[in-house]
Amino acid sequence: MAIATINPATGETLKTFTPLTPQQLEEKLQNAYVTFQQYRRTPIETREQLMQRAAEILEGEKQALGKIMTSEMGKPLKAAVSEAEKCAWVCRYYAETARHHLADQLVSTNAKKSYVHFQPLGPVLAVMPWNFPFWQVFRFAAPALMAGNVGLLKHASNVPQCALAIEDVFRRAGFPDGAFQTLLIGSDAVEEILADSRVVAATLTGSEPAGRSVASIAGKHIKKTVLELGGSDPFIVMPSADLEKAVSTAVKARTINNGQSCIAAKRFIIDAKIYDEFERKFVAQMKALKVGDPLDAATDIGPLATPQILQDLAEQVQRAVAAGARVLTGGKKLEHPGNFYDPTVLVDVDPATPVSCEEIFGPVAMLFRVNNINEAIRVANATSFGLGSAAWTNDANEQLQFITELEAGSVFINGLVASDPRLPFGGLKNSGYGRELSEFGIREFVNIKTVVID
Ligand code: NAP
Repeated sequence: MAIATINPATGETLKTFTPLTPQQLEEKLQNAYVTFQQYRRTPIETREQLMQRAAEILEGEKQALGKIMTSEMGKPLKAAVSEAEKCAWVCRYYAETARHHLADQLVSTNAKKSYVHFQPLGPVLAVMPWNFPFWQVFRFAAPALMAGNVGLLKHASNVPQCALAIEDVFRRAGFPDGAFQTLLIGSDAVEEILADSRVVAATLTGSEPAGRSVASIAGKHIKKTVLELGGSDPFIVMPSADLEKAVSTAVKARTINNGQSCIAAKRFIIDAKIYDEFERKFVAQMKALKVGDPLDAATDIGPLATPQILQDLAEQVQRAVAAGARVLTGGKKLEHPGNFYDPTVLVDVDPATPVSCEEIFGPVAMLFRVNNINEAIRVANATSFGLGSAAWTNDANEQLQFITELEAGSVFINGLVASDPRLPFGGLKNSGYGRELSEFGIREFVNIKTVVID
């Protein structure tokens, strides 16, 4: 894939980039390695100040940074500006808490003194997706850098200006030159980097095939990985739920980020007692969404990020329809330049077909009617993914059953699945392994050293 900015709202190529030469890549790896030898010893107070400064830059420049995101991957500008704000939040969160999360932990044993001591690992490769082009990177980089590691970013090929802008934020915040570097490279260069002994670990956020590839190469070289992959999150609504709130949240949960979020709700599993009312209200609200120019403040849904994603989405809908699904609204590309797809609601999707539980990356919702909570949980778990899940019910016993039995990295009761720096984020099954954010995220790329003194 060419490394280029192609405006998804118009199809216009705005800028192209030349990938790094082998010599340039070598210089960056060496810079990371050498920088780490110094950076790992910087006092935590210094790192806290640098990370706070990165947060200030993100806050102060959120409009300009948001415009870069929107021009490269098409999310509505208001969402892009919020994304820059959220990146500032994660920087502040780790600037304020890393010291506590990484403090020595005393353990009582037979020895005079024993404790657990956390140390950085070294240069970590981050392979990142375009869908939250800042947030995905910062939620890796803020804890990794606070722990004393250095980062090497291989960003998605369609968001090179975001990748360079992030590097620039860290540089202007005062981090040493090699503490965070963007590598403008294609995915074919990843194997060589993982094989390099100077690179000690990798994190990948992206699709299942990319995760399989990176994890298997890293495994060959015995390097730790964290994988944040796809999802087909269920959104379950039971009769005791606040239906108005459930419907409006369901629409948001499906269409956030133009429908291209790993934790977007993709399968809506509705109890038969309220199904008809839910369907009527949900379809009406999906129809009312404004699709259009992502720079326009009134726009709810912008274009999909690339023509390939548009084509894949259209094919998934066609496959579902060929297998007997009905389209209640949408179901087509818009006759418009750019990668626009009409918000779509599908019903009667055959649960035996792959499309019923694979990841659908765009504003297409599937509704399923179930007769009771056990059936709802069975349908919800009938996917190879296990990222987020949402269940709407005001019955305490049902809440407990969902919390216990849904196979997912998170369960949100009466709410929207969302990431939060204070809470761990990650998945089960083919959604990956490891956790980002919170104390769990910062401890993924550290040596958990046992110290015993006698
Ligand atoms: P993608 O095609 O897998 O790309 C993600 C990154 O991996 C890009 O930098 C890409 O580089 C690189 N890549 C692709 N194939 C590779 C390979 N064989 N070896 C090494 N690197 C490879 O995914 P995407 O389309 O950008 O992102 C959408 C996916 O990300 C969805 O499945 C979504 O659910 C998932 N996602 C998950 C989370 C989470 O936290 N769980 C969050 C956001 C997104 P190129 O661009 O150069 O191909």
